[in-house]
Amino acid sequence: MPARILDGRACAQEVEAGLAPRVAILTDKGVTPHLAVVLVGGDHASQVYVKGKVRACARVGIKSTNIEVPVTIAFSDLLSTIDELNADLTIHGILVQSPLPPRMDELEVSERISVQKDVDGFHPANLGLLVQARKGGLVPCTPAGVLHMLEWGGVEIASKRVVIVGRSRIVGMPLALLLARKGVDATVTIAHSRTPELPAVCCEADVLIAAVGVAGLVKADWVKPGAVVVDVGVNRIVDADGESRLSGDVDPAVAEVASVITPVPGGVGPMTIAMLMQNTVTAAELQSA
Ligand code: NDP
Repeated sequence: MPARILDGRACAQEVEAGLAPRVAILTDKGVTPHLAVVLVGGDHASQVYVKGKVRACARVGIKSTNIEVPVTIAFSDLLSTIDELNADLTIHGILVQSPLPPRMDELEVSERISVQKDVDGFHPANLGLLVQARKGGLVPCTPAGVLHMLEWGGVEIASKRVVIVGRSRIVGMPLALLLARKGVDATVTIAHSRTPELPAVCCEADVLIAAVGVAGLVKADWVKPGAVVVDVGVNRIVDADGESRLSGDVDPAVAEVASVITPVPGGVGPMTIAMLMQNTVTAAELQSA
C-alpha cells in the first residue's frame, strides 16, 4: 500500500492560523511584528524563497521589509546593515537569506544578528540553548518544522530509532538535538557523506530523515518497510523531456515501502516558513514584554 502523505501545506496553514490570536494581542499593545529580510544579490532561487516568506508575513499580519543589497557589497557594509537592523526597535526579526557569496562568512553573519532577533535560530547562543534543552531560545525553522509536522501527523517519535542523513548546522545537527531531547525521546543516528554502509544504516530507521541535497539519493531498498520518511531536500533537476522541476532527496519509489512520507514540494518547505512566522511572533512578544 502506498505511503500516507504528510501534507506540509495543511499543517503550515494550521500553524499560521494559530498565530492570529498572538498577533492580535501584540496589535492591541501597539506592536506590529516586523521581519527584515536581507537579500544579497539577485539569485533567482533566493528571490523566490524571499517572496514566499514575504507572502507568509502578509497572511499572518507580520510586517516585512526587504533589504536588497548588491552582490558586490563589501562584507563590512553587510555587517553594518545588520547593525542598523539590530538597533531599529521597530524590527523584531532579522533574516539574511542564504546562500551568501562564497567570500562571505555565514557564521559571522549569524553571530552578528542580535540573539533576540535571530529568527533563523542560527546564532551560537540560540544553538547553545538548544544543546542545553533550555526554553526561551529561537529554534532553527526547518528542524522545528519537521518535528511539528511529525507530531501533527500522529507519528510516534518517543523510543523510535531515527536516522538523519545530513549533519549541517542548519538542518541535520539541530534536528538531531531536537529529536533526542528529553520529552521527545528519539534515539538518533546522524549519518553523512563519510558514513560507511549508508543504505544499511538507513534500513535501521523507524523514522528516516533525508537532509542531503542530492536528488533521489535515498532508494526504496534503503528503507525498512513501514518506516516514516521525511524528505527535507530541495533540488532543482531537469527531466528527460527537458522540463525543470523540484526533486527531494528521496526516490519516488520509496512511497511504495514507507508507511508515511513527506512530499517535495509541499512537505517540509511550507513548515519551514510557518516556523519562521512563529519565531518572528515569539521574538516580537519577547521584545515587547
Ligand atoms: P548542506 O550541504 O549544508 O549539508 C548536506 C549534508 O548532507 C552534509 O552533512 C553532507 O555530509 C551530507 N551529504 C552530502 N552528500 C551525501 C551523500 N552522498 N551521502 C550522505 N550524506 C551526504 O545542506 P543543508 O543541510 O543546508 O540542506 C540539505 C538539503 O535540504 C538541501 O537539498 C537543501 O536545499 C534542503 N533544505 C530544505 C529546506 C526546506 O525548507 N525544505 C530548508 C533547508 C535546506 P558532510 O557533512 O560529510 O559533507
